Amino acid sequence: MAAMRAMVLDRPKTPLVMRERPVPVPRAGEIMIEVKACGVCRTDLHVVDGELEHPKLPIVPGHEIVGRIAAIGEGVSGFAAGERIGVPWLGATCGVCRYCRSGQENLCDAPVFTGYTRDGGYATHAVADARFCFPLGEAGEDAAITPWMCAGLIGWRSYRMAGEGTNLGLYGFGAAAHILSQVATWQGRRVFAFTRNGDTAAQDFARSFGAVWAGNSDEGPPEELDAAIIFAPVGALVPAALKAVRKGGRVVCGGIHMSDIPSFPYALLWEERHVMSVANLTRQDAHEFLMIAPKAGVHCEITRYPLERANEALSDLRGGRLQGAAVLIP
Ligand SMILES: [Zn+2]
Ligand SMILES: [Zn+2]
Repeated sequence: MAAMRAMVLDRPKTPLVMRERPVPVPRAGEIMIEVKACGVCRTDLHVVDGELEHPKLPIVPGHEIVGRIAAIGEGVSGFAAGERIGVPWLGATCGVCRYCRSGQENLCDAPVFTGYTRDGGYATHAVADARFCFPLGEAGEDAAITPWMCAGLIGWRSYRMAGEGTNLGLYGFGAAAHILSQVATWQGRRVFAFTRNGDTAAQDFARSFGAVWAGNSDEGPPEELDAAIIFAPVGALVPAALKAVRKGGRVVCGGIHMSDIPSFPYALLWEERHVMSVANLTRQDAHEFLMIAPKAGVHCEITRYPLERANEALSDLRGGRLQGAAVLIP
C-alpha cells in the first residue's frame, strides 16, 4: 500500500512527530489531495499549545492547503484529477442547523474544521469534503498563495465586518494584515499598522505593504480611525483600539483565541462604538476573496520550511521571528 507522511500532534503541548500512514482513500463526497504546500496559521499554534479545546487527537494540523487532486470520491462532480485546489479551515458544515439555513454557515452548530477536528495539510496527502474545496486556477505559485486560504479568507471576512471607512487600523501585522493592507490600499483606503512595541522591522514591513503609518500598539494613531481589526491574540488591544476609533467606529477581533480583555471605562465604548468578533468563514467569503485577491495584485511574503521542520516553523511564529507567513513544503 502507498504511504504518506504527516506531522502529527499526539497531545497538546508536545512537538509534532513525523509519521508514515497509508495514503487515504476518499469516501463519497470527498477529494484526496496531493499537498503541494500548506501555510502555518496562528490557529495551528493555538491547537498545538492546547488553547483550543477538544481537538481530534492525534491530529494533523494545517488548514491553508494548496494541492492537486489525486483521487475523487463517489458522487463528486465539477472537479478533475490534477486540478489545483485550496482547502480552508471550514472543512464541512451540517447544512441543516439554523445558522446553515440562514447564510451563516460560519456559525454552524456541528462544523468540521480542517487541521482541528479532521486531519489537515501538514502532510504529503490530505482528504477534504469536496463542497468546501476551492479551485485555484494556475496563476500564482503554490506556496505563495497558501496564506490566502485562511489569513486571506478570514481576513477578508474581518475586513468586510469593519465597514466602509477610509482609515483602517490593523493590530498585529502578520499574514492576514499584510494581505488586507494590500486590498485596502488598492481600494483607496489608508492603513495604520500597530505592532509589538519597538518592533521596527515589523513596522518597516507594514509600510512596505502600503501602510501610511506604522507604530507601537500602545501609541495612538496620528489620525482617528474609522475601524480597527485586531489580529494579535492580545486582549489589551481591545480598549486600545476602542480609544483609537471614532464615534460609531468598529473594532473587529479577527482571531480565534485571545488573552482576557482587561476592564475599561464605559466611555471608550460610548458613542456607538462597536466591538465584535469574526468566527471562521463562509464559502461566500472564499468566493469573494478569491475573486478580489488577484485583481488587487495580492502577493504574500513567505518563509518556506520542509514539512519535517514544522515544529521550527511553529516556534518561529510563536516567537514573532517571521515577517509574513510560514509555509510547509512536503
Ligand atoms: Zn450547520
Ligand atoms: Zn487559520
